[in-house]
Amino acid sequence: MDVKDGPPDGPVLRVSQVLGPITALGPGRRLGVWVQGCPLACAGCMSRQTWDPAGGQDVSVERLVRLWSRGLADGYDGLTVSGGEPLEQPEALGALLAAADRARGEADRPDADLLVYTGWEDAEVAASPRAQAVLGLADAVITGRYRAGEPTRLVWRGSANQNLNPQTPLGHRRYAPHLRRRAERPDLQVRVTEDAVHIVGVPMPGELGRLEREWAARGVTFRENTWRP
Ligand code: SF4
Repeated sequence: MDVKDGPPDGPVLRVSQVLGPITALGPGRRLGVWVQGCPLACAGCMSRQTWDPAGGQDVSVERLVRLWSRGLADGYDGLTVSGGEPLEQPEALGALLAAADRARGEADRPDADLLVYTGWEDAEVAASPRAQAVLGLADAVITGRYRAGEPTRLVWRGSANQNLNPQTPLGHRRYAPHLRRRAERPDLQVRVTEDAVHIVGVPMPGELGRLEREWAARGVTFRENTWRP
């Protein structure tokens, strides 16, 4: 999704990519914002391109909210902020969530939910008033490092230790059916842009290698991928 922007006016988020609609990170059709920068370095992370805080690009919150508003007009069901580590940019994340909340009100779409992924554990969030304040603006939060040795079929979670925490009445309504829901195979979405193939979703161990082999068998190979060092 094109996120080129004029001179930023107001808060700016360092972003790896923005895609929409996405359908594999939260319920329904959603706008996906992947922030740039993560110091947590989970072994087996599929998004290593998001680690370097100097990578990606600055995008104004105003621009992101325009995309969100456009998505709402197109019937999007929610906004998912992933990463990278969103809590590395607490002010911009808070500004984005607050503005996204206002925009859904203006669009008369109070049912469109805000979901945030963080690698912080619940205890780390609980120990940080700032993190709590920012994440409190989301309807639901998925917490915890990715642990490759603890695979799970729980939807939208990468490993069994990760928790899906609804936080608002909307979050409870929207996510209650999914708290313990398991999928036989994870929902993965493939989006092709000018210069890359994006795999959206949370694959099971070995799934990315299997996809790579299937594509190779059809003559599609990649110069690099984001899940190998
Ligand atoms: S899985 Fe998430 S928290 Fe862990 S290194 Fe990758 S981006 Fe960071």
